[in-house]
Amino acid sequence: MSASLFAFVRDRNPDLSRPFLETPDGRKMSYGELFMASARFANALRALGVDVGDRVAVQAEKSPEVIILLLACARAGAIFLPLNTAYTTAELEYFIGDAEPALFVCDASIREAIAPIAAARGVKAVETLNAGGAGTLTDLAAKQDDTFDDVGCAPGDLAAILYTSGTTGRSKGAMLTHENLVSNALTLVDYWRFTKDDVLLHALPTFHTHGLFVATNTLLMAGGSLLFTAKFDADEIMRLMPRATSMMGVPTFYVRLLQHPGLTREATRHMRLFVSGSAPLLAETHRAFSEKTGHAILERYGMTETNMNTSNPYDGARVPGTVGFPLPDVDLRVVDPETGAPLGVDEIGMIEVRGPNVFKGYWRNPGKTAAEFRADGFFITGDLGKVDPDGYVHIVGRGKDLIITGGYNVYPKEVETEIDGMDGVVESAVFGLPHPDFGEGVTAAVVLQKGAAIDEKAIASALEHRLARFKQPKRVMVLPELPRNTMGKVQKNVLRDTYKDIYAKD
Ligand code: AMP
Repeated sequence: MSASLFAFVRDRNPDLSRPFLETPDGRKMSYGELFMASARFANALRALGVDVGDRVAVQAEKSPEVIILLLACARAGAIFLPLNTAYTTAELEYFIGDAEPALFVCDASIREAIAPIAAARGVKAVETLNAGGAGTLTDLAAKQDDTFDDVGCAPGDLAAILYTSGTTGRSKGAMLTHENLVSNALTLVDYWRFTKDDVLLHALPTFHTHGLFVATNTLLMAGGSLLFTAKFDADEIMRLMPRATSMMGVPTFYVRLLQHPGLTREATRHMRLFVSGSAPLLAETHRAFSEKTGHAILERYGMTETNMNTSNPYDGARVPGTVGFPLPDVDLRVVDPETGAPLGVDEIGMIEVRGPNVFKGYWRNPGKTAAEFRADGFFITGDLGKVDPDGYVHIVGRGKDLIITGGYNVYPKEVETEIDGMDGVVESAVFGLPHPDFGEGVTAAVVLQKGAAIDEKAIASALEHRLARFKQPKRVMVLPELPRNTMGKVQKNVLRDTYKDIYAKD
């Protein structure tokens, strides 16, 4: 059997009448229909001149056609390359130049702007795919045959390239193989106990690993189905919940559901599983959700380059503030970031992982690839963390967010945990800013509850008794909200940029 993602999906779904997907506006698709649609799209790719190994770059709003196109690429031996819908035309120019796709798929509204850029870079065709799934690509596919002679592929062949969010420097294309995707999805089916009877609430975007692979591939491998919404809307999710068994989301989804009056024990009693990832879930959110619903959210940790690395257990304690245990087949270690020497229990250092889930390298960037892998095959994640005495992994933050002030290392998470524990505080972000005396000054941005009795001064003085002097923020700022990207990650680079001069004036 071919090692392609599609071959596995088809092999595991012999009953073609089973449902695969439904949208809130009543669109339904069975596995049989999915397979035929992917054949038509694969034929359309061929008709457009897409060959084996070619990239198919896709900047499209979420629709079932995005998933059909992912599978069509796998069938045709092409490499699926999704792009964040927030990218501007100027940014797309970089991606087109770097990826050199044979086909560029985009919303009709930008086709005219993209066509000359694409033509200048040798892209063979530009086709449209709009919100809702209509477009010139879909029209072309509709005219094609619904059978396709699949290209056989090896486990190490590329299935997708996903550009990392790249908060420093240009974003890099992570090359993911069929084996990376297949092995991780099969692991998650077992670990999270997905079956054909599962119905997953899918409100995540489809240009990012979470919505595209974790949520979709896992259900495809289990033969379950998706309740597929265009975006996250708490009212819509609560309306659909009675028909679901499970949900995967970013922490923001859970924060918003907690504010919804419909979220009760009764409304969620039938649910089997809530999974969170892509950004840290506050322990407070975990506790509040469990008090309100009786469900312990299962938090897991992964990244574009590695798929999923760790997960809290299905049975057993799902510990708030931790990301659980390394998944089967994933080797995980914490090392000294400078020397690479392994560290002991509870010692904070760089998290490194190795396994069939870990990507092949950065697209056309052997230098960067070499720099981020150790000689023994471990990938340096860039995340700082520790393993506690019970084996649970804790993430402390990104390595580049580490603050060095007066020669001392400060882990933002430690300061954030202290601030978040204060009455009246919703959340905080601690980051370093250029400081004339200390190199970097510890700075805290804090979001308060409405009508909170606490203010900047009170927060700063409360910390005086709790943290060593060098860890205390030199400035505490109250903000209405923290800047976040679409995956709910707090953008500390935006905070660093916005406030970069505040100590210069001191
Ligand atoms: P991305 O490649 O966009 O999926 O981002 C991956 C990064 O998100 C990781 O390297 C972590 O820094 C962060 N991340 C993902 N899941 C978690 C989690 N459960 N807790 C804390 N950070 C996480």
